[in-house]
Amino acid sequence: MFESLSDRLSGIFDKLTRRGALSEADVSEAMREVRRALLEADVALDVVKSFTDKVRTRAVGQEVVKSITPGQMVVKIVHDTLVETLGSDARPIDLVAPAPVPILMVGLQGSGKTTTTAKIARRLKERERKRVLMASLDTRRPAAMEQLKVLGEQNDVDTLPIVAGQSAVEIAKRALTAARLGGYDVVILDTAGRVTVDEGLMDEAAEVKRVTDPHEVLLVADALTGQDAVNTARAFDGRIGITGIVLTRVDGDGRGGAALSMRAVTGKPIKLMGVGEKADALEDFHPSRVADRILG
Ligand code: GDP
Repeated sequence: MFESLSDRLSGIFDKLTRRGALSEADVSEAMREVRRALLEADVALDVVKSFTDKVRTRAVGQEVVKSITPGQMVVKIVHDTLVETLGSDARPIDLVAPAPVPILMVGLQGSGKTTTTAKIARRLKERERKRVLMASLDTRRPAAMEQLKVLGEQNDVDTLPIVAGQSAVEIAKRALTAARLGGYDVVILDTAGRVTVDEGLMDEAAEVKRVTDPHEVLLVADALTGQDAVNTARAFDGRIGITGIVLTRVDGDGRGGAALSMRAVTGKPIKLMGVGEKADALEDFHPSRVADRILG
């Protein structure tokens, strides 16, 4: 995902680090190139602007120009600013709440929501020994309910039995009750997705959130859709209120802009990233590791 941005930046920094003394003009020129590289990687314009402004201010403030290795100093400042833009620390899913802890999954259809629901359930079961119940609230697409059931069977995670004719809110309430009575630690609710953000989708997700009071509301967003993913995140956060983001298809050859913009635009952390179709292709999102990958 980050290869082409990474190549561009290392080209810019190679040039910078090979030189001895740097003038302010050299730093400005490098920042112009960084700005162009970020824009080409589809990073949101205001994020690019605040990023390069920060780097420039820090570079001047730290008197890079007079330091012994000015090039490396600029690279370090870029690295630190990148980590800050990506969200500083890894933020795991927060399960510190009375059991069963409800987690609400929201997002557009095709973003990888159902797959990610199963991936998270499997990870909580395997790594944290949690008993997890999953429920699909997608009343309009029986195939989606069936898909979650199959994923549950494949990963040895329980799913709420499918009952035809119930509304999303009714299913959500039934899931919470079943989780409570069944002694589950976590209950993951996979809401319905639509191809685009629409009012019906938002209303339904908001109502489910109101009646279930989830501890986490995770937006699943497809990294390959770049700026659209960022706009989707902004829309969901504005209307429903999310607590974190799972970025999917980070294994694909997108330009990386979504990953870089998400945190800055929504203020919400990217918690996890999907890196493949398999049930275990889910990784924690570590800002410093991602910054290392971007800077090569
Ligand atoms: P939903 O409509 O949002 O529930 O999307 P699905 O969970 O059905 O996923 C749609 C497709 O994307 C499926 O073929 C998944 O296997 C695939 N998918 C989901 N997450 C990832 C990912 O991180 N990487 C890749 N390569 N494929 C993914």
